[in-house]
This record gives sequence, structure tokens and C-alpha cells, in this order.
Amino acid sequence: AKYTKEAILQMAEEEDVEFIRLQFTDMFGMMKNMAITAGQLEKALNNQCVFDGSSFEGFVTIEEADMFLHPDLDTFAILPWRPQQGKVARLICDVYDREGNFYAKSSRTILQKVIFEAKAMGYEFEISPECEFFLFHTDEDGGATSVTHDKGGYLDLGPLDLGENARRDMVLTLEEMGIDVESSFHEVAAGQHELDFCPAAALRTADQLMTAKFAIRTIAKRHGLHATFMPKPKTGVHGSGLHLSFSLFHEGKDVFADKSDEYGLSKEAYYFMGGLMKHISGIAAITNPLVNSYKRLTPGYGAPIYVAWSAKNRSPLIRIPLTGDGIMAIELRCPDSAANPYLALAVCMAAGLDGIKQKIVPPSPVDRNISDLTEEERNAMQITLLPGSLGEAVAELKKDDFLCQVLGQEFVDGYINAKEEEWHEYLRQVSDWETEKYLYRI
Ligand code: GLN
Ligand code: MG
Ligand code: MG
Ligand code: MG
Repeated sequence: AKYTKEAILQMAEEEDVEFIRLQFTDMFGMMKNMAITAGQLEKALNNQCVFDGSSFEGFVTIEEADMFLHPDLDTFAILPWRPQQGKVARLICDVYDREGNFYAKSSRTILQKVIFEAKAMGYEFEISPECEFFLFHTDEDGGATSVTHDKGGYLDLGPLDLGENARRDMVLTLEEMGIDVESSFHEVAAGQHELDFCPAAALRTADQLMTAKFAIRTIAKRHGLHATFMPKPKTGVHGSGLHLSFSLFHEGKDVFADKSDEYGLSKEAYYFMGGLMKHISGIAAITNPLVNSYKRLTPGYGAPIYVAWSAKNRSPLIRIPLTGDGIMAIELRCPDSAANPYLALAVCMAAGLDGIKQKIVPPSPVDRNISDLTEEERNAMQITLLPGSLGEAVAELKKDDFLCQVLGQEFVDGYINAKEEEWHEYLRQVSDWETEKYLYRI
């Protein structure tokens, strides 16, 4: 560990920290926090802070209501946007029950289990995410709109890019919190931005993504803007993805690299892709968790719809990106930022490792534009479609025994119940599109 209890108490004292936020992430990827005063910090560091878990959707039942927060000491960080006197710090926590057992519905725990399994195989992951989001104007009441006056496009700069200052502020804030941002730029759609993060270990990556979303929203607000990670906030323009690039190491050696292969990929790299592709339909229920997620996964907006991989073409589900440092990476392009990052990493890593264990060979790469192919050609090349809706994805997750076991049946039951309810609620809605299309004519 980077920090000891004593070091944290001392840092809190020296930095004049007045409040500490104990944070954790619920099943659906929402950050939750409980603030304590500095006087309670020692108690928190001794894992004695309790919250009432019964009030969380899908979390616990009334009988097992009291949950304990165990802070991960290495996540201690000061929130730079809070007052500089009487500062606010945070600690990311794991959730335990009264008996001191890991809580089965804690997504951070689920990821830690997969990391542990990887370690048992001699592997360590590094992951670098690319996080896209929109900056929209707020209305008079400070509420969110989907209006932007930004005229920027891919890699544009000011004055077209109105988010430039906000984005700069976001990057500096994240750097201050110890999160390394590799690059940041204006994305394709007006008002759309991207932050790319440097590769980091899996748990750290997930923690960083939670922190980044929180920081990005907060900083946007300071600039009078609303940041949204909604996968497809506007009809007819690009949606926002969360591409994830996976690298794998064994004793510091790049497991995915093999110079003798035509794409520079090792057997493990192929099997990893094979595992991802085999489980992708169920994975989608986690990486693309909203009704809205599937409106992004449609043709024409740079998001994948077919299950295929390529070293050249940018559009398929899996791509082998060129990396500056020569480390091989496998980029999965379907996830979006609505996903719970702990779960998204857990299912992807586990599926890839399963591919390595079972030696699952992926189909041949597809370097042509898949939308130009006929259905027969696609079938001949074993190219399938990603789930077309949340309902389909959830049904696939339910059927995938391997993924259910990775997530734990107790977790899966709660998650699937909630997501089926969300899907059915959506199906019952009469939308503006329908009234506009049918009300007058029919
Ligand atoms: N916005 C696209 C997506 O949804 C990606 C565009 C890109 O980064 N090339 O995934
Ligand atoms: Mg990118
Ligand atoms: Mg992008
Ligand atoms: Mg990408």
C-alpha cells in the first residue's frame, strides 16, 4: 500500500482537511458518498463507519441493512475544487457486511475477484479508457439541456470549441488528483469532448473513471455547462463511447505481443479476443446498460454494431490500436460511460481470460467495411450482430452461465430484475416520435 493509516491522519492534519467523503459505487455505477468530519477519520480508517444499505435499490434487504465501509487507503485524495481552507478529501471504500464478509453486490469487490484470478494465472492487466461526453448549456434554473452553441468538430480548437477552457480545467484537476490524462480533444459532434487516460492497473482504472466522471461534471458546472455521459443524447449525431484498451503482462512481459505474427499478436491475444467475442452479447448488458445505450450502437456514427475485429479498420467491435510505446493492446469499442466501470472491466477481463484458458480462436479479421457486405457474406465470415436493445442484452446475460458466475448469482438476480423493469417500463412509453408520426395521419 502507498499510504498507512498514520500517514493519512497526518496528511489530513497538515492539509487542514475538515471533511472526508467515504465513497462507493452502487450496482448501477452511481457514486454514493457519506461525509464525515476529520474527528471521525480514525474511526473510518478502522473500518468502523456504517451506512444503511436497505435504502439502496437492489443492494440489501432490510434484515441485512447495516453495511460497513472499508476505505482503500491508497485512494486518499483531496478534492481540488472544494474550499482550500477546511479542505475536503475522499476515500474510496469497499463494502462489507456485519460479519466482515465482502458484500456480494459490491461491484468493486467483483472486479477485485477477477484481478485475483488473473494474478493466479500470473497475469496483470493495464487498461486505458477513452471517455467521450457532451457539454451542454444549462437553463435559467441550472437544469440540463441538450443545447450547445459549440460549432466544433473532431480536433477543432477555440473559438469553435466553446468547451476548451472547461476541458483544460478538467485535465488540470484530474492531474492534481494524480490521474494521468494522455490527451484531450474536441470529438466529432458539436459539444462533444474526449479525455483519454494513460494505462493503469484495473482497479485503479475503475476508481479513476468514477472520479473523472464526478470531476468532469463538477468542473463543467463551474463553467455554466452540463456534462453528460448519456450514450446517445441527440438524434442524428455521434453518441459517446467509452472505448477500453486492454494490455496484459506476465512478470513485466507483454503477453499480447509476438513479433513473428503478421499483426504482432500472440496466441493469448487471439484467444483473449475469442473470449470477448464469445461472451459479448451478455457483456453488453453490463458495458451498455441503458435503453439509450442501444441507440448509440447504430450504423453511421462510428460505434460498432457487428461482432468482428480488425487491425486496420476502425469501425468493428475490436480494434488493434497503434500504441506509441509498442505495447500491444486490444481495444473494445462497444462500452459506454453509463456502464459501472468496475463491472465493465470485470466482465471483459474475465471473458478474455476465459478465452485464454479455453483457447477460444476468434474468427479471421475483417478489414472491409462491414456495412458493405451482404447478409450471406457476413454469415460466411461468422460476423454476428451486437444485441439491438437492452432487452436482448439482458436476456443474453441471463443465459451466459460463465458471466453469471463471474458476477455472482446474487448480484445478477438483482441486476437483471432492475434492468428488465427498466426495459419494460420503456416499452410501455408512448414517445414523441410516435405521436408525431401517427397522431395526425392515422
Ligand atoms: N463516438 C464514437 C462512439 O460512439 C467513437 C468515435 C471515435 O472515437 N472514433 O463510439
Ligand atoms: Mg480515441
Ligand atoms: Mg473518440
Ligand atoms: Mg478509440
